[in-house]
Amino acid sequence: MTTRTPLMAGNWKMNLNHLEAIAHVQKLSFALADKDYDAVEVAVLPPFVDLRSVQTLVDGDKLKIKYGAQDISAHDSGAYTGEISGSMLAKLKCTYVAVGHSERRQYHGESDELCNAKVKAAYRHGITPILCVGEGLDVRKAGQQVPHTLAQVDGGLKDLPAEQAESIVIAYEPVWAIGTGEVATPEDAQEVCGAIRTRLAELYSQELADKVRIQYGGSVKSGNIAAIMAQPDVDGALIGGAALDADEFVKIVRFRD
Ligand code: PEP
Repeated sequence: MTTRTPLMAGNWKMNLNHLEAIAHVQKLSFALADKDYDAVEVAVLPPFVDLRSVQTLVDGDKLKIKYGAQDISAHDSGAYTGEISGSMLAKLKCTYVAVGHSERRQYHGESDELCNAKVKAAYRHGITPILCVGEGLDVRKAGQQVPHTLAQVDGGLKDLPAEQAESIVIAYEPVWAIGTGEVATPEDAQEVCGAIRTRLAELYSQELADKVRIQYGGSVKSGNIAAIMAQPDVDGALIGGAALDADEFVKIVRFRD
């Protein structure tokens, strides 16, 4: 049986300037240092302008915390004002990049085709994408959450070779649960995360599907994380609001304690 190391990733969204980022990561590292937390991988996804500060801190103090960006350009360089390329993120030693977060899909019109191009851009530069998928409330009410989410998985992974797909992280984030305080039940999370794993097995192989980490995201807190993590196909969480409170984020990371 494959053991997948859970990944707890904090998506800071458009919060914390670079000075606040330093204070926050210092707090996290201090709180996590007294205990071996190898069993869980911890990552933060700060705004672009914070990445250099976070890198300096992580490198300098040899912290185990990983970091990454919240978005990446599909292009490698050129006249794309305001965009940040994979090579720039790689230079900052980003491990991860979120692709297709629902807020990017909703407010910036990101399509599955664009997400697919961004996933490929990340791999061109050795960065692991966290591909975000999930249904809105209308789709959930119509009972179409599984086909809707699987279509996003298919689109995001289109023509992606197995050597790359085996390391991808997929975050199942029902849009109606993001930032709303309304968390999916553990059974809701399992239903879709399980379906995503089955689809990975169909697209690639069972062996590959067993390796891929599938996160749940949507109003995760210290009080609900253990029940969500008890689901067999949930391998971590993408955490928004609760990741801005260092104490709360640490409690989520230590959900097994
Ligand atoms: C997110 O931003 O991906 C997220 C899940 O946010 P929240 O935890 O605040 O719902």
